[in-house]
Amino acid sequence: MRSEARQAELKEIIYGFCLSQCLHVAARLGIADNLEDGSKSSAELADLTGSHPAALRRILRALASIGIFSEDEDDCFSLTPLADLLRTDVDGSLRAEILHVLHPTSWLPWGQLLHSVKTGQAAFVEVFEESAWAYRAHNSETDAIFEAMAAAHAKQQADVILEHLDLSTVGRIVDVGGGSGEVIAIILSRQADLRGVLFDQPHVVARAKEVLRAAGVADRCRIEAGDFFIEIPREGDLYLLKAILHNWSDEAAMDILRNCRRAMSAGGRIVLAESLIDSERTPVANFMDLHMLVIHGGKQRTSAELGALLKAAGFCLQGIQKTAGDFSLIEGVAT
Ligand code: SAH
Repeated sequence: MRSEARQAELKEIIYGFCLSQCLHVAARLGIADNLEDGSKSSAELADLTGSHPAALRRILRALASIGIFSEDEDDCFSLTPLADLLRTDVDGSLRAEILHVLHPTSWLPWGQLLHSVKTGQAAFVEVFEESAWAYRAHNSETDAIFEAMAAAHAKQQADVILEHLDLSTVGRIVDVGGGSGEVIAIILSRQADLRGVLFDQPHVVARAKEVLRAAGVADRCRIEAGDFFIEIPREGDLYLLKAILHNWSDEAAMDILRNCRRAMSAGGRIVLAESLIDSERTPVANFMDLHMLVIHGGKQRTSAELGALLKAAGFCLQGIQKTAGDFSLIEGVAT
């Protein structure tokens, strides 16, 4: 490849951050939702979204250059298959994920990636002087954006869990760090005899009552607020930890697992739902791994690493199931 061609290729990568922010702005403004019923000019879109027409047109053109929206005639924009995923209410929508991952609370720490690489610590703490969890506890907008992302994926994720886990012998499932209950609500609504405990931080479970009520399972699910570094609810037959351990260092992950073990009787089941970073180190898997470092000082792990953590915390590894979702299920039994 000639050097000009290599330069051009590298430049697209260098300026990739511009596209990420154009995407963020388009998602924030709800451009794709506004194109649902047909194409519009940048002036119309600016009017609908309270934006500056000429500046918006430039953003739409930049996005159209990579297949997100198309400019059919001069200044007439419409949806493309990629832009479709920016709509709010479509199957597989990534709007909530874009709003979370490209929000200043992710973006600003990513600007300090070097700090994470020098120290192995979360750049988030360097920028905001507290952990992402502490920040979200008193910043409702950021918390709501995070919750919206969790809610957007909940149905698909609950389906995957139900497809792969045999819950027939489970009386009570405990969702450790279960957010505001979207996933456990769906699981319980599909398993009539199952009872549940939703466990998360106080400000997070504060919204759960409504979620459980709407799913018709409030009478079968206890809500417990607490700190999984201190104590985890007892009396569960199966403890689910979905997207929990990747937020934490090995030491902290061990503390959480040991607290789970302490809460359980021998023979109890624990299921980790985590994206594995095994054989396929796709670019996105690597970026997610770094995202965990930058935001939480955490990491994505291999199945061997998760198996070793389970073993050290007093569990015997039962099996690992790859799923069609973006996570695998790693199951252990308390010894
Ligand atoms: N299981 C959910 C949420 C994963 S995000 C899902 O997969 O969608 C991680 C969760 O851990 C958040 O809901 C967060 O509030 C919770 N969490 C963080 N620190 C915690 C702590 N110390 N004690 C209990 N929950 C905590």
